[in-house]
Amino acid sequence: MSESLFSFEPVQLPANAVALRDEVRLFVAEHIKAAAFDPRLNAWGTRHPAFSRACGAMGYIGMCWPKRYGGHERSALERFVVIEELLAAGAPVGCHWVADRQSGTQILRHGSEEAKQTIIPKIVKGECYFSIGMSEPDSGSDLAAVRCRARRIEGGWQITGSKVWTSAAHMAHYLILLARTQAVEEDRHAGLTQFIVDTSEPGFATRPIYNLYGAHEFNEVILDNYFVPDAMVLGEVGQGWRLVTGELAFERSGPDRFMSTFQLLLDSIRQLSQAGDADRQCLQDLGRLIVHLSSLRRMSSSIAGKLERGENPAIEAALVKDLGTAFEREVPEVFRRLLAIEPSMGSSAAYDENLGMSLLRSPSFTLRGGTREILRGMIARGLGLR
Ligand SMILES: Cc1cc2nc3c(=O)[nH]c(=O)nc-3n(C[C@H](O)[C@H](O)[C@H](O)COP(=O)(O)OP(=O)(O)OC[C@H]3O[C@@H](n4cnc5c(N)ncnc54)[C@H](O)[C@@H]3O)c2cc1C
Repeated sequence: MSESLFSFEPVQLPANAVALRDEVRLFVAEHIKAAAFDPRLNAWGTRHPAFSRACGAMGYIGMCWPKRYGGHERSALERFVVIEELLAAGAPVGCHWVADRQSGTQILRHGSEEAKQTIIPKIVKGECYFSIGMSEPDSGSDLAAVRCRARRIEGGWQITGSKVWTSAAHMAHYLILLARTQAVEEDRHAGLTQFIVDTSEPGFATRPIYNLYGAHEFNEVILDNYFVPDAMVLGEVGQGWRLVTGELAFERSGPDRFMSTFQLLLDSIRQLSQAGDADRQCLQDLGRLIVHLSSLRRMSSSIAGKLERGENPAIEAALVKDLGTAFEREVPEVFRRLLAIEPSMGSSAAYDENLGMSLLRSPSFTLRGGTREILRGMIARGLGLR
């Protein structure tokens, strides 16, 4: 077996991260008191432009990015605390989420100076939203099969093709899009490139795809002879596979991968205590969920510590996403069993509706960002089993 087993060293939060936690709690409490938002399930998929701007004004976006582009040069552990508190409060952070979690970092690492200067300061203010342009009709898990094609023309690239399941592309200012810049040869991973696509330019269109509960959250994206200038190419042409796998590590490791149903967990505990009939089985089930949650928290904070030290925790991130999304799926199933409440859509009782909504949403948790089978393949490789 390989020596490269993963590790989750415990981290000690620095004193400034602890102080920051109190600050964020106060910030969200004031917004809830002012009725600026209701705590929501799936907070990072809930979009609220004014709240994103307020997060920007507080310095909660681009926390680890360089000051010369508007960032705050704070630590990954401080960022972890802010993210965790916003999600725990069910705050609607969806507008800026993808840009802050992965796209901005990708641009800072691999983008041109022009891209950094024009885009990063707007992200930091909470005014610029990104979507992820990876999946296509026949290439979700198998990203190397992308067929969206970029052709070299004077001054840049012309892209033609389509993407699917592109969350919030109809509201985004930009996408980071993976396209094929060279025909498939022996190495399927060669000849791919990432581009920054401005959604306001000609040749870009979206069509809604309605999800299981009838909402328009994701889209089909169509690119028709869409022009990307050279300044909006990420990294070296043909190196897109390396870039996209690096981006996925950022997408997979954070508390967003186990906190989508955290508000339901809190509300369910309140329901149980009001009903006053928690038996031994119920307490055991609750205890198991809480222990899982605290283990996931510790693993995810350990990854923030690795990022702080400049390590690449891609395999650890896959493990957190696999276990975390299984946890967030399990929460509604456990309480559906424990409470004599009928989950329902359109119910006047908020809890019944949240339970119904969580049940309809939860199958997607283990798909978005990479399916469990794919993650387990990566984990097996990390363990030296493949
Ligand atoms: C809510 C939601 C939001 C999304 N948002 C975005 C977005 O913003 N941008 C974006 O680009 N994509 C997005 N996606 C797409 C998502 O990343 C893909 O659905 C996912 O990667 C799986 O791809 P697929 O749907 O093509 O399924 P497939 O790849 O066809 O897989 C079908 C099944 O086969 C299994 N399978 C496939 N290959 C293997 C293998 N090698 N070994 C074992 N099993 C395998 C899979 O695990 C899965 O169970 C979103 C998806 C959802 C549900």
